[in-house]
Amino acid sequence: MKKPKITVVGSINMDLVVSTSAFPHKGETIMGDSFSTIPGGKGANQAVAAARLGADVTLIGCVGDDTFGRELIHHLQSCGINTANVKPVTDGSTGVASITIAEKDNSIIVVPGANHRLTPDMIEEYESVIAESDTVLLQLEIPVESVEKTVELSKKHGIRVIMNPAPFQNLSLKTLELVDYITPNEHELASLLTSEEKKEFFDHHKDKWIVTKGKQGVSFYEDDEEKLVPGFRVEVKDTTGAGDTFNGALAVALSKGESLYEACRYGNAAAALSVTKFGAQSGMPGHEEVASLLQ
Ligand code: ADP
Repeated sequence: MKKPKITVVGSINMDLVVSTSAFPHKGETIMGDSFSTIPGGKGANQAVAAARLGADVTLIGCVGDDTFGRELIHHLQSCGINTANVKPVTDGSTGVASITIAEKDNSIIVVPGANHRLTPDMIEEYESVIAESDTVLLQLEIPVESVEKTVELSKKHGIRVIMNPAPFQNLSLKTLELVDYITPNEHELASLLTSEEKKEFFDHHKDKWIVTKGKQGVSFYEDDEEKLVPGFRVEVKDTTGAGDTFNGALAVALSKGESLYEACRYGNAAAALSVTKFGAQSGMPGHEEVASLLQ
C-alpha cells in the first residue's frame, strides 16, 4: 500500500531543560541539578508522530543558521522526515523553549526566533510540495499570515487541511472556513469561542471540529450530534506532546482513507501510548504498537 503523504508546516524548537531544587529569585544565581537539550516544537513533534506511524512526511519550517538548527535538521532526518524545505535563516536563531523544572512545577520561556521568519512568500515557493500531499497539517507557532497562505494554497489544490489551533492565535473566519478539521483541546476551544461571531461559526460548521478531551478521548459532530470517541485507559507518565501525537496520527489515518470515527480512534490510541512514556517525541509509538492496542 502507498504510504500516506503528509506535509507539516510549522515550528521547530530545541527545548533547553534545567532541573533544580528551587527557582532562583530575581538577580540570584543558584546551582542546578541537570541539563538536557530535547528536540521539540509543535510542527516537528507532529511530523515525528506521523513519520513513526509510517507516513512519508515533509516538514516545512525555519531554523537558525546555528548549531541547534543543524542538530535539529539531523535529528529530523534520522526520524525519516524530508527536510529539504526546512530553511536555515540568518536573521533569527533557532527557536528555543527554556524550561526550568523545580519544586514540582515548571517555568517556560519560548523564543520563537527563526520560526517567525517563515513568511507567506516562502510558503508560496513550496506550493508544489503542498499540492502533492494527501494531507497538510498545521499548528499556530508560526506567523498567522503563513498559516493563512498554507490553507489558501492547500485548498487551491483540493488538499485536506487539519489545523491544530495551538497556541491560540486569532484566525480569520475565511481561513477557518477553508480548513477541513480544527482540533483544539478544551482550553483552546474556550479561547476560540470568545466572540459571538466565532460561536456562530462553530454552530454553522460543527462538522469541522474535533475536540480533544485528555483521557476522555475526543468528540466530533455527525449530523449535528456530538459523538464521543473514548480514550484508552493507560498508566500515565508524561502527557507532553499528547495532542501533537493525536494530530499526527489523525492525519495518517485520514490519509489512508479511514472514516472520521476510526481515524479518531487511531489518534486516541497513538496519543494514549505516547503518555505512557517520558518525553514528547521520544514517547511516540510506531504503527504496530497502535494496531495492537486497537485490536
Ligand atoms: P493537549 O495535549 O493538546 O493538551 P489533550 O490533553 O486533549 O490535548 O490530549 C490529546 C489526546 O491525547 C486526547 O484526545 C487523548 O486521545 C490523549 N490523551 C491525553 N491524555 C491522556 C490520558 N491521560 N490517557 C489516555 N489518553 C490521553
